[in-house]
Amino acid sequence: MTTHIVIAGGGIAGLSTAYALQKQAEAAGLPLRLTLVEADNRLGGKIATRRRDGFVIEGGPDSFITQKPEAAALCRELGLGDQLIGTNEAARRVLIVQHRRLLEMPEGLRLVVPTRFWPFVVSPLISWPGKLRMGLDLFIPPRRDDGDESLADFLRRRLGQEALDKLGEPMMAGIHVADAERLSLLATFPRFRKIEQEHGSLVRGMLAAQRKAPPLKNGKRPSIFMTLRDGLDGLVAALERAFHGEVLLGTQLTQLQRRPGGAAPFDLRCDDGRALLADAVILATPARDSTRLLAPWPDLATALAPIRYLSTATLSLAFSRAAFEHPLDGSGFVIPRKERRTMLACTWTSTKFAGRAPADGVLLRAFIGGPDGEAAALADEADLVAAIREELAELMGVRAAPLFHELFRWPHANPQYDVGHLQRVDRIEQMAAEALPGLFLTGSAYRGVGIPDCVAQGQRAAEKALEYVVRDT
Ligand SMILES: Cc1cc2nc3c(=O)[nH]c(=O)nc-3n(C[C@H](O)[C@H](O)[C@H](O)COP(=O)(O)OP(=O)(O)OC[C@H]3O[C@@H](n4cnc5c(N)ncnc54)[C@H](O)[C@@H]3O)c2cc1C
Repeated sequence: MTTHIVIAGGGIAGLSTAYALQKQAEAAGLPLRLTLVEADNRLGGKIATRRRDGFVIEGGPDSFITQKPEAAALCRELGLGDQLIGTNEAARRVLIVQHRRLLEMPEGLRLVVPTRFWPFVVSPLISWPGKLRMGLDLFIPPRRDDGDESLADFLRRRLGQEALDKLGEPMMAGIHVADAERLSLLATFPRFRKIEQEHGSLVRGMLAAQRKAPPLKNGKRPSIFMTLRDGLDGLVAALERAFHGEVLLGTQLTQLQRRPGGAAPFDLRCDDGRALLADAVILATPARDSTRLLAPWPDLATALAPIRYLSTATLSLAFSRAAFEHPLDGSGFVIPRKERRTMLACTWTSTKFAGRAPADGVLLRAFIGGPDGEAAALADEADLVAAIREELAELMGVRAAPLFHELFRWPHANPQYDVGHLQRVDRIEQMAAEALPGLFLTGSAYRGVGIPDCVAQGQRAAEKALEYVVRDT
């Protein structure tokens, strides 16, 4: 009988797993039956693109980081190379809200670390005592052990409280929609610990990294982020086209059991009553869904359960350019939590990426939710639109009425990598291997939330599953 592998969850992690399994099995000449089960009526999970009146609106991710190459490589492999675009040169400027004003990040700031003296010195963003405290980074001895700590503890230790509040929290914890006091440094920014250990100082380490950076191409810095010209759902569509296995849409996996001995030891049930027998199973579902499915293995379910989720929402607002009052000369702004706003950040989407709005249009995207924003992310739509418009008026002077808006809500959807996360994941993987050989967990709950991380994790899960079926079935 042909070996059967079931993948549950058709987000980018599950899709990458399914595609990699197919590719690796074909390369090895191994006949494999693959089934992808997705609860929703569409594939893509958090990748969700809407098109309306010439605007391209991303509801979830709008781009991916290029430092991790897996997403761009997958796009190229799937024939989307000519669709890949970076951020507009004009949009490299990022602003930050301070006391109701938009201030520019000092030039040369790498996340939180100043690498150019003068722009940092003259910037009004950080007070003089705050700047001096940041300078102490050059003298504070590094932590030598490999223990985890929160991003907040790390930044406070190296750069001081003000740098944490004004830069680290909105720029770094903000990427993870997380509370810096709980966010694991090792699971999210391991490079910072490495820099500390290798150079004894973040500033010295960043300067050294800059000196080693490859030369500029045509005098331009390579873009830190990339996206697809016609929207990120192009990657989902390309994976869907390339995958020849069975795809069960609108089908939720509700039960997982293991039959004693023999072939196809996994007995799976779906909400439509369908039964699937499988030799291996990959759960590319959020950890809270996987926890429910793994309830018959209480130790494993208990180890998974503490992976918390927070809610977010994105509100995109489309405007007519003629009525728009702001020059939009940057990629947008972030807002420190201490400013107590409904918005966490606002992307000036039509400046940041080409092709997101028609020539006479402007597109903005407000990001809502996170550690203090659960209620805001789930608030009544009209109230939310009114609150965001008020903040845009106050911060940017935008009083024009939008042509339309698109709201995407992501309730309990952002996994939180609390301190000790990587140890927890190691333990979960070990427990799964012992209790349920042939079962693999993958996706944004574990080893990185970004699209490149999810692609890489899917590819690794495929490798492990294939190795398992070749060896053990
Ligand atoms: C608003 C927002 C903005 C973001 N911005 C960025 C960004 O700019 N760049 C970036 O790199 N990342 C970004 N991210 C993170 C990134 O989008 C996600 O981490 C990633 O897409 C998650 O992929 P996944 O496959 O792990 O999970 P998901 O996309 O959540 O997919 C899991 C799938 O499993 C399905 N499922 C659940 N239970 C079952 C079941 N029992 N049976 C069958 N199917 C089931 C779900 O329906 C879902 O489709 C953002 C996330 C959000 C929410």
